Amino acid sequence: MEIQHYSNKKSFYPTFSAGVTKAILKEIENTDTISISNKLLKNGISSDFNNNKTIAWCCNKVIELIEHINKKYKMNFALPKGIFVKDFENLNIDDTKTRAFCNLRPFELYKSSEEVVPSRTIFFNNFETLKQNLSPENRFFYDWKNIDEISDLTYDIKHSPTDFFLDTFFHEFAHAIHETRLINKLGPNKLSKQLDLIETTKNVQNYRQKYGDRVKQICDYALQNQLEAVACDMSKTITESLDKNTIHPNKQPFIDTAFEKLFFWQPKRIKIPVYSDEERPLIEIIRSFWNGDFQ
Ligand SMILES: [Zn+2]
Repeated sequence: MEIQHYSNKKSFYPTFSAGVTKAILKEIENTDTISISNKLLKNGISSDFNNNKTIAWCCNKVIELIEHINKKYKMNFALPKGIFVKDFENLNIDDTKTRAFCNLRPFELYKSSEEVVPSRTIFFNNFETLKQNLSPENRFFYDWKNIDEISDLTYDIKHSPTDFFLDTFFHEFAHAIHETRLINKLGPNKLSKQLDLIETTKNVQNYRQKYGDRVKQICDYALQNQLEAVACDMSKTITESLDKNTIHPNKQPFIDTAFEKLFFWQPKRIKIPVYSDEERPLIEIIRSFWNGDFQ
């Protein structure tokens, strides 16, 4: 997920419309990132928030929420293997302006070392180098403290499906959840082949041609590829179920969504018709991708 095309929006000011309340700001201010890292380690998640309190608070909140969803709605959503805040200029990635990503394959991520980072590790960009070359006005959008305004902006340019401030976090965690599901369903070798295919230009062209008109109802970013469509839709689904004051679901988030658990004997499942590509409704498109069928 990245921010761009924003430089013509000079009159952006705090609106608190993305859900960050004064109480949340206070909690973020009092966040001890080391104690959150220690807590996550007990769950098997390595992390280094680089003292970024906003990212640490938001990740902790999303993890609490996923644990709640798992317990209450029996969803078995997996957590990422690690969470790190880095200056993306120091990473072996093409797009160093991106805000965050979840790596789907193990790779040598750091320019300075040969360490292999395992898949399903989430990275957030602290934009240290990038910020140095920006005017104070533009720097605003690269400072995570301004997550409320940044969320409004990314929603405004259709880069995210909701303007809720946890959207970026739900999105990256959704990638880790989805990939774990795919490994369990397809196995690592078949998944690796699928990932090779998904990344090809031909796949992206076919995907947009077949389903672009429907997936862009989620947001424009969902047009990137099938995996992004799932991550955007899952973030939207969870956000829409939340009571924005408690940041807890006020209903079962997944009924009548692509992520609902449907068992073979359930009438709902039996009634899913076989659609042609042109007729397939959005929910069934996302359900196929969620289940590892990317055609
Ligand atoms: Zn993504």
